[in-house]
Amino acid sequence: MTAANRKIIIISAPSGAGKTTIVKHLLYVFPQLGFSVSATSRKIRQGEKNGREYYFVQSAEFEQMIEDGKLLEWQEVYPGSYYGTQVSEVERIATNAQFPVFDVDVVGGLNIKKMYGANALAIFIKPPSYEILESRLRSRATDSEESLQKRLLKAKWELSFEKDFDIIIVNNRLDDAFEQAEKLVIDFLGIKL
Ligand code: 5GP
Repeated sequence: MTAANRKIIIISAPSGAGKTTIVKHLLYVFPQLGFSVSATSRKIRQGEKNGREYYFVQSAEFEQMIEDGKLLEWQEVYPGSYYGTQVSEVERIATNAQFPVFDVDVVGGLNIKKMYGANALAIFIKPPSYEILESRLRSRATDSEESLQKRLLKAKWELSFEKDFDIIIVNNRLDDAFEQAEKLVIDFLGIKL
């Protein structure tokens, strides 16, 4: 079975929509899923661990990966910060007999969807409103005002791609979003309960 024949799950959203929380929940509930750890050139944040959230690399190393064709997909998600999925990561997950889950930006998500077609379930997580998204991002202590403005601008743009995804989950109440996401995964992968 080639990589593209295998079912995969893509989860994309504007920053602040609660995507990572939903991804973590699905990974906790379903041992059948394996998180695709992306490579990134952004700085490691407090609490993060190399090889768990990301493989943290220098920009030059990332550019070398691009040149060597080691990436399935990559984006400069924020100016100066590269993010990408290594082909070897998808293979690692397949070796564990798991289905990959990609937590990627909207453009990356749609690019991966094109590669996998019907074998991919592309989920878009949406905040209940733009105002709620802004207040969620503001309450995160990790961002400077400048980086917050960048994220907001990008979020607005990313929201315009929702229609290109297979399904949209509006993250209003987290428990409802969890339930909806679980059901989608069960149906898509044909998991027997
Ligand atoms: P953060 O810096 O907050 O961890 O992530 C910023 C954005 O980059 C998020 O939307 C995240 O999903 C996205 N991202 C993470 N890994 C990848 C990747 O491999 N490819 C793409 N295109 N986006 C990614």
